[in-house]
Amino acid sequence: MCKIVFHKDYLLYNFGENHPFSPLRSLLVYEFVKEVIGENYLIFPEAPVNSEELEIIHTKEYISIVEKASNGIEIENAEFFGLGTADNPIFPKMAEGCRFMVAGTSLGAELIYENRCNIVINLGGGLHHAQKNNASGFCLYNDIAYAIKRLTLKGLHVLYLDIDAHHSDGVQNIFYSDDKVLNISLHESGEYLFPGTGWTYELGRSMGKATTINIPLEPFTEGENYLKVLEEIFIPAIKWFKPDLIVLQAGADSHYLDPLADLMLTTRDYEEIFKKILKWSKEYSNGKMLITLGGGYNHIVSAKIWSIMCSIFTGKQYPEKLPDRVLKKWEKILGKKINPEIHDPENPFEPIPRKEEINRTNLDRVEKILDLVSPYWW
Ligand SMILES: [Zn+2]
Repeated sequence: MCKIVFHKDYLLYNFGENHPFSPLRSLLVYEFVKEVIGENYLIFPEAPVNSEELEIIHTKEYISIVEKASNGIEIENAEFFGLGTADNPIFPKMAEGCRFMVAGTSLGAELIYENRCNIVINLGGGLHHAQKNNASGFCLYNDIAYAIKRLTLKGLHVLYLDIDAHHSDGVQNIFYSDDKVLNISLHESGEYLFPGTGWTYELGRSMGKATTINIPLEPFTEGENYLKVLEEIFIPAIKWFKPDLIVLQAGADSHYLDPLADLMLTTRDYEEIFKKILKWSKEYSNGKMLITLGGGYNHIVSAKIWSIMCSIFTGKQYPEKLPDRVLKKWEKILGKKINPEIHDPENPFEPIPRKEEINRTNLDRVEKILDLVSPYWW
């Protein structure tokens, strides 16, 4: 049983027209789900989480600053908390919109914990950069850490996989010493991309040693190599950790057309990744998965990737072309013409000149990480 979570108040999390992070992406996928997957898959959180509940992740001080700023109260040292910057501008109702998305991810965790669903997809959230005491990288409250924490407090072990192009520094820092969370992030190397962390030697601390895994990928990494890297790390990791569920942050900014990152995945690569993770979750665990959105700054491509994702996890075949009604809605929402083909064209970019070297560097890194964790894992 799969459910897909959405709430119209996710749209309150809107940094403005010129900001890359757009809540319209959630709305586009919601429209696709309604028309193609079926309204019976949809579920809506009744209320946002309240600010006190967030204290299992964020400091009281930070929450109070975010809530005040969101209510239009001027904050003198806002930048200390990562607010009022180009990445995280202050805008009315930002806290409420964000708390609704936290509620969505949390609802998914609850449905899975209560065995009412095997798979839940939240059409929002994935705010993996938010830290205990500050906003970062378009992320105010960390919905993923909140949902994971609620599950580990109930005794569950969680494998967190992050395929966003950026390193999941917020989630990593929050669970760095926690042996109940195995945190795997594949991302474009911090040498080239925000937030500049996520190195192979960041492996966790004390009780959490060897429960943080970072695979920094070379710019221009292509899908085939990405999948190989994922498989080589994911299978030994899940076999060792035996999680109660997988939490997936499904950032779409690893796509080759993303304007903020330089990885080269296509829509077909994403489809393959989703199929593989679904297969492995059944083969090596119990098939339970909680999924969020994430980065993705080519809005049309991101919506297509997540529409494919909803199709894979619900088992409903997607159409090769967006049906007319979906296309019209998407064009109205974005105010422009959209190519109805759901997939990228075959061979959509020129051959990458350093391909062999890129592939070898990435695979060497996986080998190095497996060497580093082997004393702990086996
Ligand atoms: Zn990202």
